[in-house]
Parts: sequence; C-alpha cells; structure tokens
Amino acid sequence: MSRFWSPVVGTLSPYVPGEQPKLQNLVKLNTNEHPYGPSPRVLDAIRSACDDTLKLYPDPSSDRLRQAIAGTVGVQPGQVFVGNGSDEVLAHVFLALLKHERPLRFPDITYSFYPVYCGLYGIQYETVPLTSDFRIDVDDYLPGSKGQAGAIIFPNPNAPTGRALSAAEVERIVAGNPDAVVVVDEAYVDFGGESVIPLVDSYDNLLVVQTLSKSRSLAGLRVGFAVGSAELIDGLERVKNSFNSYPIDRLASAGAVAALEDAEYFERTRQAVIETRSRMTAGLESLGFEVLPSAANFVFARHPSRDAAGLAASLRERSIIVRHFRHERIDQFLRITVGTDEQCELLLKALAEVL
Ligand code: PMP
Repeated sequence: MSRFWSPVVGTLSPYVPGEQPKLQNLVKLNTNEHPYGPSPRVLDAIRSACDDTLKLYPDPSSDRLRQAIAGTVGVQPGQVFVGNGSDEVLAHVFLALLKHERPLRFPDITYSFYPVYCGLYGIQYETVPLTSDFRIDVDDYLPGSKGQAGAIIFPNPNAPTGRALSAAEVERIVAGNPDAVVVVDEAYVDFGGESVIPLVDSYDNLLVVQTLSKSRSLAGLRVGFAVGSAELIDGLERVKNSFNSYPIDRLASAGAVAALEDAEYFERTRQAVIETRSRMTAGLESLGFEVLPSAANFVFARHPSRDAAGLAASLRERSIIVRHFRHERIDQFLRITVGTDEQCELLLKALAEVL
C-alpha cells in the first residue's frame, strides 16, 4: 500500500464512522447525537476558559474533571480514568489487553470498533452471536459454556440493537469471571439502561466506560471516562502516560465539568429523548415496522416488506439521514437516532410517503 509504512497498515480494516454532513436543512438521525445540545452552562464555562492560560499544558491527571465525574456517579476520583471520548478510553483498554494469552470475547453484533481495535493491536478475539431476537445471552459469557475468556467487553445497552441487560444479568457475568476483566461500555445507559457503576466497589474485575457524547450532548467535545478498581485504573494510566499524558484539553475539561454540574438540564433533556423514543416506536409500529425494544437514544427497526437500503435512500432524498448497516443478519434494519419531537414527526411523515 505504502512504501513507507509497515505492511500491517495496508491490512487494516478501519471503522467507518457515520456520515457527518453539513447540518443545513437536514434531519440528522444517523450517529446517535443528542438533539438538544449542551447545557448553556457548558458554553459559558468554555468561553470563560478561553484565556491566556491556553498557553499552558492542561493538568495531566485531570483532577477537577475526575472529581466532577466521581461526584456525579458516586465513586472516588481514584476510581476514574478519563480520555478524549470513550473511543480513546476504549483504545487504551484494548492496548492494556495487548499480548493477553487468552482471547477477548464480545458479541456479534456489537459496536464495530471492537474488532477494529483488535485488528490494529493484533489482539486475539472471539465473537459470540446474539440470540435470534438480538439479545446477549448471559450464559455465553460464563466460563462453563464457552470456556474461559481472557477478557469480555459489550455495550449495555448494546449497539446497534438498543437491547439492554439488567444490572443483575451483568453482575452474573462479572461474578462468573473473577479472573477476567469485564468491560461494560455504557455509552447509552442514561436513556434507559441500568448502570453497574454501583458494583465497582464489589468487583475488582469490573470496568465501566461512559461518555459525555450522548446523554450530555457533547459529542463534539470528546470526553469519556472509565470507572473501576484501583488496579484497573492504574493499568490504564500506565497506557495513557505511554501515549499522551494530556488527553483532556483545558476547554473540554471546563465544558465537561459544567455539564456534569447541571443535573437539572441533563435530567430534563434525557427524559425528553426517552419520551420521543416511545412516540417514535409507536409511530414506526403503526407503519408496519418491527422495532426492537430500545434502552438507548436510537431504535433498530425493520419493515417486513421494504428493503432497508431503499428506505434509507428514499429518506435521504427527503433530507433525512438514518443509518443502514450492510452486514449479514441486520441488513434489513435501519438504526434511527431519536431526535426532537419535530424531527420524529418529519421522519414518520416521510416514511408514510415512501412506504
Ligand atoms: N461505545 C459505543 C457503543 C458507541 O456507540 C460509541 C459511539 N460511536 C462510543 C462508544 C464512542 O463514543 P465517544 O467516543 O463519542 O465517547
């Protein structure tokens, strides 16, 4: 591929991010952003942070941000690791699994970045198919049925299905694998899932990853975090300090702290998304779609007689962008982000026209 880079680069199959077109007149329901935008307090905090101190490096240990996260989720700051979006946190998690002697286990279908990280770092992995109704089966993650995994990762709620395990089900996986780290990617948990952060004090093999991109409406700021035992956090710090000691810049840190402090705004806007999700689900069902039960800010839906790629293309002609995955088993599904009520109405109206 290139004469200059290692031949490995030519063999990578990188993640293909959802399209980020210019917003003008578009109903953008393709990458699970939160439609209401960040709390006004975030914008004020970022503006105030725009001063001469930008000449200085940020705090390498992001103390203020870690304290704000710890206070919000009810743990100690030493149990928190921060990164530039949860993708970077996950990248560090995968690096910390480099040369692990046993394979990493994750579901198929899931967040498509996981196999990409494995490819990049040369980590061995095994996938376990979801059930026929697109659920994660807890038993597949216990050593008994499939052998001992080196580590386990899954999103809860899962992506792109939106289906969630209960905290008790996740706990069975964590308790059943005391010698393997279990990483629970809770990117979408605030829209209806049950977080297992309260379990981190009881299980030193549990790492919970969250992001401010979704429920805090800050995808553009790039702040994510992990919560876990001192042993797990220490490993991630060692990886981070071998990579980039200053991941969170001053502006992002100021904005993220302000977002975490505005609990009222967070609560109100996430509830609005949850309510719109019910309306969107009912509307899609009345148009004949099968919609998987979603605990996330998106729904995964298929129409029994209409081709998903064709539907996505027809919506696009009407300036509505949704995500269609060209993968086996889910080729007939659309993943549609829950926007505002108005966007939901536009979507349902457009679908009624094209069906
Ligand atoms: N995990 C899952 C399951 C996701 O869908 C995403 C968003 N694509 C991420 C993590 C990463 O989000 P971010 O880097 O914006 O925190």
